[in-house]
Amino acid sequence: MADLTRLHAHEMAALLRSGQVSSRELTAAHLAAAERDNRALNAWLTIDRERALVEADAADGRLAAARRGGPGVLDRLRPLLGIPIALKDLVSLKGGQCTAGSRILEGYRAPYDAHITERLREAGAVILGKTNMDEFAMGSSTEHSAYGPTANPWALDRVPGGSSGGSAAAVAAYHVPLSIGTDTGGSIRQPAALCGIVGMKPTYGRVRRYGIVAFASSLDQIGPFARDARDAAALLHAIAGRDDRDSTSSPQPVPAKLAALPSSDDAAAAALRGKRLGLPREYFVAGMEPGVEARVREAVRALEAAGATVEEVSLPHTDYGLATYYIVAPAEASANLARYDGLRYGPHHAEGDVLANYLATRGRGFGPEVKRRIMLGTYALSSGYYDAYYLKAQKVRTLIKADFDALWVQGFDALVAPTSPTVAFRFGDRLADPVAMYLSDACTLPVNMAGLPGISIPCGLSEGLPVGLQLIGAPWSEAELFGLARGYEAITAEADWRSLEPTELLRAADPDAPTPAERMSALAISGSR
Ligand code: GLN
Repeated sequence: MADLTRLHAHEMAALLRSGQVSSRELTAAHLAAAERDNRALNAWLTIDRERALVEADAADGRLAAARRGGPGVLDRLRPLLGIPIALKDLVSLKGGQCTAGSRILEGYRAPYDAHITERLREAGAVILGKTNMDEFAMGSSTEHSAYGPTANPWALDRVPGGSSGGSAAAVAAYHVPLSIGTDTGGSIRQPAALCGIVGMKPTYGRVRRYGIVAFASSLDQIGPFARDARDAAALLHAIAGRDDRDSTSSPQPVPAKLAALPSSDDAAAAALRGKRLGLPREYFVAGMEPGVEARVREAVRALEAAGATVEEVSLPHTDYGLATYYIVAPAEASANLARYDGLRYGPHHAEGDVLANYLATRGRGFGPEVKRRIMLGTYALSSGYYDAYYLKAQKVRTLIKADFDALWVQGFDALVAPTSPTVAFRFGDRLADPVAMYLSDACTLPVNMAGLPGISIPCGLSEGLPVGLQLIGAPWSEAELFGLARGYEAITAEADWRSLEPTELLRAADPDAPTPAERMSALAISGSR
């Protein structure tokens, strides 16, 4: 059989059911790829071979029992049964590490499973390990990880995006067909774009956050990465829904359609006919690379040729997205990160009295970007400034949301936009200038501010690097967004770029390849710490 790692999860599921392949074989093939490339990519902070193989054997047991039960029983099996998956290292997995990319959580072991971990276990997914990320999900490049940066499999001297860079790189490099990320301002969509894969940030409240390390609680959402829309939708279906342990999760029913996107390209393409799409002019921001704009405009023409109508629209408060996000997110982060005091979690530096210990633990445990955010956020929330900053930002946030609401009222099915204004950038390019880094998310932040679902899907290459197309929908319209994404995949199924694999996979497999941290120091970049 051809390389098992090249299959989509829905293809693996069919082979598992027919007994042509076992979960153990699938898991072993993916573990081997992840272990082989991880020196060069640093996508994984931990790979748990033993536990994964135990889970794979359990899945094989369930599959064998179902095969004995006959077709009816096989049909009722969960789609993710026996399929390898990766978790961003801020998802709690009982007994496992959960560093959130930070030194301050080094050695901490999660005492319980996150809600989505429970759901993935019930679904029978095989968890291979935990992936690298910017510290506390603050960043757009994964260079802010305390455990070294992750490389992009398309160009080993470039970033995979962030903060969920490890999860995106692992899927792009065929270490897993599926992974989990979180998106507070773009951290699923932007790395999906830069790595050439599919990534969705669901509507705020769609997925329970219980057991996820919090960054900015009114913005954080958990979501799927995959190499096509069907797989990403099936993963969202498995993790979505209400849970009483997260009062912000919504009782909104999870559409069954998510698990049943059309398998036929004709049916998928036909669903594009008559769709009304908006193209927000403010998303073609200054500094956008011409190659990125060209790919996005080509995608728009392809959607029109398939029978969708695309109209230019305006979201006039887009420009305030960045400024308000960088008040709201740090403010909430400063509150959420107060719990890392050296007593409850991770390392404790004893240097004297309680205050000295606290200062030493936080001083050494947090990296510079996290400290910057804590200072910004504490300032914005302090007495006398709260009204001027935090409250004002929340009011502007309402205006940003109202821009989108006006378009849904006019009957638009979705908006089409770039995901990132640029392709993957080189290590170090944006490290010295935090504002340049923040601008990476200009096209994704407003979607979090408004609580909407957004998806990034690959739409070709610019200068040999992937470009992402973003689709933004009304609240709870994930199934519709996946339908559009699936339609776009169908109409571009024959495009040359679809058959290309990340260009530096072979170099990543070299056991003597430099690590991303070594590449950075060779470029004389000191890193973020
Ligand atoms: N890059 C943005 C930030 O640094 C968004 C990160 C995220 O979505 N977690 O805050």
